[in-house]
Order: sequence, then structure tokens, then C-alpha cells
Amino acid sequence: MMSCLESIATEFVSELSMRLKQGDGEVLALHEPVIGDLEKRSVAECLDSTFVSTVGQHVPRFEAALAEICRVEQVVATVNGTSALQLALKAVGVEKGDEVLMPALSFVATANAASYLGAIPHFVESESEQLGVCPRALENYLKEKMQVSDGVCRNLGSKRRVKALVVMHTFGHIGKMKALREICDGFGLALVEDAAEAVGSECDGHHAGHWGDVTALSFNGNKIITTGGGGAVLCHDESMAARVRHWSTTAKVNHSWEYDHDELGYNYRMPNLNAALGVAQCLRVPELLAQKELLAKAYSKWFKDWKAKWGLEFYEAPAMLKSNHWLNAMLLPESLLGIHNEILEEANHRKIFMRPVWKLLNRLVIHKDCPSMETPVAEGLASRMINLPSSAFLGERLG
Ligand SMILES: *Cc1c(COP(=O)(O)O)cnc(C)c1O
Repeated sequence: MMSCLESIATEFVSELSMRLKQGDGEVLALHEPVIGDLEKRSVAECLDSTFVSTVGQHVPRFEAALAEICRVEQVVATVNGTSALQLALKAVGVEKGDEVLMPALSFVATANAASYLGAIPHFVESESEQLGVCPRALENYLKEKMQVSDGVCRNLGSKRRVKALVVMHTFGHIGKMKALREICDGFGLALVEDAAEAVGSECDGHHAGHWGDVTALSFNGNKIITTGGGGAVLCHDESMAARVRHWSTTAKVNHSWEYDHDELGYNYRMPNLNAALGVAQCLRVPELLAQKELLAKAYSKWFKDWKAKWGLEFYEAPAMLKSNHWLNAMLLPESLLGIHNEILEEANHRKIFMRPVWKLLNRLVIHKDCPSMETPVAEGLASRMINLPSSAFLGERLG
């Protein structure tokens, strides 16, 4: 049996390598950025100006470009996505000792942002269609475990206040936001979108960030657009954006020379040099989205044969979503779960950096005392999914 599984993995990875036209010794990363003359000129201009740090025009320009792409009023650029999430949670009033609901199927930063504020992550179940928080499972769970009085939601078990739900748009696919927004309204929960992976993604004609009270983006090097390191907080409310901006700049009171800080602030503002890269990347968004769509379509077509042969499937987001297809993923059939590590081993050996889905957050040792729903769907997804090389430039190779 073992040798049979091994041979399936070997054949699959070898055909993938050919299909992706992998050159001799070429490394195929999970997601490489696209950086060209546009970016080089913008960064050089910033360097020439010497305004590389906390002052300069590229940050407001980058924020304006993001506001247009995401169709939101308010944008505050930050040093990374994790700091954006932390400030987003603080902006909706998350405090020490509160619980924050979030999917177990997410990157550790989602939980870290809550923990940095002294809040307690409380993990919830996912659904397998759009890979977001499962509204049905969540609602049943909240009805059983929570009590709402005077608009405040409390965990009947821990007695702690439950302040917010963080949703995460897995691999760029937006979840079931209408239903989740309604649940949040019904239970007095703030809604925060972890849209780190979802720049350019839409659902029902709305961009990621539409549903949440506040939203966080990331521009890490492996995201769809990058500023090296970077993030942004999006919201619809000018006063919330002003508070976030204030916290991100050490809560310094505006004055020409005095150092007065009226709250505990953070040094989370995006440097001008990073924003210079971001401004150029924003111009590339339509081109990147087109290439990513091409790649997802080509994978989908290529997997038809593998499905017929061994039941290896391509994860397809529902057609009504307009996803940015940040990371593509394959799904193993139950009967071939044993091949999971074989495929990863074979691919990484051949310098195709395929990756498993994150270890579920409710399984991490740092969260052993955190409350959690049962998460069989998230566990099933994590055991069946493997991410495929998803760099935009592969669109043309595979397409
Ligand atoms: C990338 C990512 C983050 C964090 O972004 P950084 O910029 O790396 O801090 C948060 N949540 C999710 C789901 C991510 O994929």
C-alpha cells in the first residue's frame, strides 16, 4: 500500500512540475511577488527624497489608492497585517479579559492580535464551501453557550464578555458574510474582517471590508500585493480611523515640537519607503487579478483528469464569488489521506514549495486553555487540503 501511495505522489508531482514548466533547478515558491520597473522607480523616487520613514507623501497616496481598490472611505496603513488586526480589535473596543470569536482555520496572527490586547481567542467552526466561519454552526453554538443582556454578549461558561467575531477570507475567498453580519447584530458582537489574503476579492458586488465594522489587510511579501512588510486598517467611520491613526503614531498629540502622548500608543505606522512600493503595486492590481484568475481556471481544468483517475480535486470557490484566488488548493479524497505528507515531501524535494493548511489554532499549545467549539469540518479541510504554487506569473505558463 505504502509504495502505491508513494507512486501516486511521485507521478502527481512530476506531472505538476512539467505542467508548470519548471526549469532545471528552478524554485517554485508558494506565492512570489511581481516587482518591475514601476516599483523600482517609485522606491528610487522615495529614496531620492530622503523621506524614507515616518513622514512623506507616499503613505497618504498608498492609502488613497487602497481606498479606491477596496471601495472604503477610511484607510490607515500600518507596519504589518498583525498590527492592523490588533488596532482593528482595539477600535471595536476589545479589552483585556474579553473573548474574541475566530475560526480555528486561520493563520496564528489572527489569534495573536487578540492575545496582544489581553483578550482570549475563542475558536469556531468553518464551512467547506467558501472556507469561512460556518454561520449555522456558529448560531447554534451562540444560542446554547451565550447570553445577551443590554446588548452585551456573555459566555455562560466563562462569564467573560464576548466582544467580537473575526472572520477570515481564506486564500482570498470571501465567506458567508451576510449571514455572519446578521448573527453579529443579533448577539451584540462587533464584526472584524481579517482580509489579509483578500485584496481584490469581491462578493455580491462588494469588496472585502464591506461587511465588517473594521477590516485588516496585509502586504507581506507573499500576499497578492506587497510593501515588503505592511498592513492597513479599513473602516467606514472617520472618527474610528482617526483613533487608529493616533494609536499607530505613539498617540502623539499633534504639535509642531512638543512630545505629548495622551494614551498608550504604538509605533505601528507604515514607513514612507514601504508605501512607495505599495503605490506602484496598487497600479498592478488589475493585471495581477487577471493572471490569478487565469491560473485558477487552468488548475481547475488540469485537475479534471486527476479527479477521474484518483479523486484528487481542485478546490473551487462558488462561481458567485469574485475571488482574487490568492492561494490555490487541492483536496485529497478520504481514501488517500495517507498521501498528504508524501505529496508535500516529494514536491518540496523537487523545489516546488507546496504547503499544508495551517495547523488549526485550537490545536496549538499556546491556545490549550482557550475555549473552542468542536471543529470537525475545519479538521477535515486541514487534513485534505494542500496549497499549490500560486504566483501570478504561473497564469501564463499553465493557461
Ligand atoms: C498574512 C496574514 C496575516 C498577518 O499579516 P502580516 O502582515 O504577516 O502580519 C493575518 N492573517 C492572515 C489570515 C494572514 O494570511
